[in-house]
Amino acid sequence: MTDHSPDQRSSRKLIIAIDGPAGAGKSTIASRLARKLGYVNLESGAMYRALALKAIQKDISLDDETALVKLAETLRIRLEPTIGGNRTLLDGQDVSSRIRERDVTEAASRVSVHPKVREWMVAHQRAMGAGGGIVMEGRDIGTKVFPDADLKIFLDADPVVREQRRMQQQKLKGEVAANLAAELRERDHRDRTRAISPLVPAEDAVVIDSTSMTEDQVLQKIDELLSATTG
Ligand code: C5P
Repeated sequence: MTDHSPDQRSSRKLIIAIDGPAGAGKSTIASRLARKLGYVNLESGAMYRALALKAIQKDISLDDETALVKLAETLRIRLEPTIGGNRTLLDGQDVSSRIRERDVTEAASRVSVHPKVREWMVAHQRAMGAGGGIVMEGRDIGTKVFPDADLKIFLDADPVVREQRRMQQQKLKGEVAANLAAELRERDHRDRTRAISPLVPAEDAVVIDSTSMTEDQVLQKIDELLSATTG
């Protein structure tokens, strides 16, 4: 399947949820799929990251749920899909690279455990995707944000493979790579064991294990599932 021209298969604008742990390939798959369908790709993780960045900038404790919700209410986040990937604008500033740095990554995982922060995020994510024609990726899209999504994918991969992919993406080696692997495991653990909206596949999600699949194979599989969904 090529991802250059929008797919005209269904005139109904679907909601497609892609959840899974870090390093499973969600971002690349979601962005290629959205391009192919002529849909918008919304990365919900970028919103948690933007809040975390603002908390760091304002020196707000990552454990202070009330202060974080207040801060969220002042956030002006824009997620802009571009050909080269998604841009995240925070208060009008392009923070796309900054929010991928390690301190923000760690902080995003910590702000995301708070129930009231999640409530705020979920309400905004629902509003952003309400019209359909979206591929939204995250951890709780199929379980919480859009439980009635037209297609739910849970994209997983062996932890060692996920760590290797992340290291390659960021061209890391040696001690830095080992630290990244440990951080990824810790983040995963926190996402899977938090009390509210832990990372689990929705009951009606299709689990795709991408451990030994190429991106094209994953997209092919999703394409087949979409054909079955849209008839
Ligand atoms: O997907 P990404 O790695 O950018 O997400 C950053 C962090 O935000 C994750 O580690 C997770 O803790 C949190 N997150 C979440 N729910 C989502 C998306 C992200 O809890 N829907």
